[in-house]
Amino acid sequence: MKAIEKEIYLDNAATTKVCREAAQAVLHAMTEAYGNPSSLHQKGFEAEKLLREAANTLEKLLKVDKGSLIYTSGATESNNWALFGTALAKQKRGRHIILSPIEHEAVSAPAAFLEEQGFEITRLKVGPTGRIDPAEVGEAIREDTILVSIMAVNNEIGTLQPLEQIAEIIHSKNPETLFHVDAVQAFGKYLLHPKKQGIDLLSVSSHKFFGPKGVGFLYKNPKVRILPILYGGGQQEGLRSGTENVPGISGMAAAAKRAYDHLEEERPFLYELKGMLMERLRAFSDIRIHGETDPDKSAPHILNVSFLGIRSEVLLHALEEKGIYVSSGSACSSRKQKGSATLRAIGCTREEMESSIRFSLSPENTPEEIAYTCDILQKIVPQLRRYRHG
Ligand code: PLP
Repeated sequence: MKAIEKEIYLDNAATTKVCREAAQAVLHAMTEAYGNPSSLHQKGFEAEKLLREAANTLEKLLKVDKGSLIYTSGATESNNWALFGTALAKQKRGRHIILSPIEHEAVSAPAAFLEEQGFEITRLKVGPTGRIDPAEVGEAIREDTILVSIMAVNNEIGTLQPLEQIAEIIHSKNPETLFHVDAVQAFGKYLLHPKKQGIDLLSVSSHKFFGPKGVGFLYKNPKVRILPILYGGGQQEGLRSGTENVPGISGMAAAAKRAYDHLEEERPFLYELKGMLMERLRAFSDIRIHGETDPDKSAPHILNVSFLGIRSEVLLHALEEKGIYVSSGSACSSRKQKGSATLRAIGCTREEMESSIRFSLSPENTPEEIAYTCDILQKIVPQLRRYRHG
């Protein structure tokens, strides 16, 4: 077997390494076109041109109308804005919001806040696969439903949702209801065309597809109105005040272009790697693979597995000692005490939740890395189980 000298990074749903194209774009914006895009002089014009070019690139990739993408500091802001902006704009019409029970906290926490303010939240049910039944969405929609928020790909178990069917049912039941999609884990893996797919609001974060951190966007169907949550200098047509992060935005557009240029070849390769990993792991005793595994219904880069009898952090650090980086459950919630809402919603037991590891792949990973990781697991899992309590 090939000697592994480099690190094996299998935590790409947490974040990715910045690609060369994005790094070059960031460097150019930082060191050459460093003006404030609102300034009236040449340096401002150069920065503003970069913003326009980035918008052109992203609008073409998403096949959306000019001016329908608003830059943000990432998907946490985009998601918060989608919920609060809709609530502010539509509260006189209605105060009912529908969510999947496996949303990222950047959706579920603002929804919980709105609930405290008197909005009514319906949390849909999911079975062990984590898939939402579009008919259930239809049944939950009422006259006063202002928003349905359902993520494209779950960040912990990789389940892919039937977005088009959900959009269709929402719009046929109540044309006033907006459909928001947290597309963080889907962007760069699938061709997303929100306008065609019937999505009104779509959140994206650059660092999940080899772009820089701290930048993202919200797609907003130009026909729908949501209110801003940031007020100040009136940038971006007054929808999102604050000096634009020109280096981040340029880097994000370059990363998005790279991802869209390669996704049709990268997706099957990722499924191949994930298939290899699943096949090897299925031979282990006392493991559980969580969520959906059918490639038509689950993302190519995320696999969540419980190694029963070994606490997630113990296995995570044992792998780290071998240069292999994974995450316990979801990186976003792994530093917190409470268990994963996603794993709970799909019916995992406490033991399964406490022993869950998320592997998340990138096209830079190789079959050799997957084989090596499985060899290491084969060695250390029985060793660690010897310390199993109870
Ligand atoms: N939504 C999903 C599905 C995510 O996976 C993440 C990050 O892990 C976010 C939202 C938040 O993105 P960010 O931390 O870039 O704001």
